[in-house]
Amino acid sequence: MELYQTILERLENVLKDHSERREYAYNPSMAWPETERFELVMGRDCAFELGGQGKGAANYTCVTTEEDHWKESGTVVIGKDLQEIREDTSYARLVVLNADPALFGDTSSRKGSEQAFRTLQKLDFVKYHIFAKGYMIRTSTENFREQVRVHKDALKNGISFEKLGNTFLNHYLEIEGIRAATVIFLTDPSVDYEALLADARKVHEITMTLSRILEGIPTDCSMCSLKPICDEVEGMRELHFGKEGMG
Ligand code: SF4
Repeated sequence: MELYQTILERLENVLKDHSERREYAYNPSMAWPETERFELVMGRDCAFELGGQGKGAANYTCVTTEEDHWKESGTVVIGKDLQEIREDTSYARLVVLNADPALFGDTSSRKGSEQAFRTLQKLDFVKYHIFAKGYMIRTSTENFREQVRVHKDALKNGISFEKLGNTFLNHYLEIEGIRAATVIFLTDPSVDYEALLADARKVHEITMTLSRILEGIPTDCSMCSLKPICDEVEGMRELHFGKEGMG
């Protein structure tokens, strides 16, 4: 179930290109507090915006089932941390989840493929249930960006990406079958945010291809509108033809 392998390879290259990154091991006792429901941060209370208008932004959640990769849970920061930022800044938040393959069922059967699609959607939707205090996230499934307003009080009270990372990790790691999770925050202006945004779009397309296969589409690859995705994503063809029982 390595549908996102090319995306993860590109992400590994981004990490390699930014060796000055900061890394923090998962520490649940250092999580930033949450509120019960979505909290508005008004413009007058906002210290700065991340990923706002005219700035780079991207957001995606990717899954691997390889035991040896992405096996430590933690937070990575590439660029300035929240306490160092003074103005509106480009921003991406990327998540990699290491999942037990059993979470996706047997993807060579229709039932298993359905389970895989529902699981991937569920993992992506976790972000809609995290309300970090003073950190108003506006995310869009249509443009794959994430925009954040940071409250002045949150800054005064010591908010940081490490603490936020632990908050996100608490949510991901409580899901049965998630063996490890990595949250990556990027604010470095040298990062190619357009490329990350293209990958965020690709992650979405891969998941939706799974859904379209389940809806029942022709099995002639040369006539299929999903061919560009299947050409790039190893495992997609097996998934389709496995489901159809075509070997
Ligand atoms: S395997 Fe072929 S027919 Fe199936 S979705 Fe991919 S391109 Fe289309």
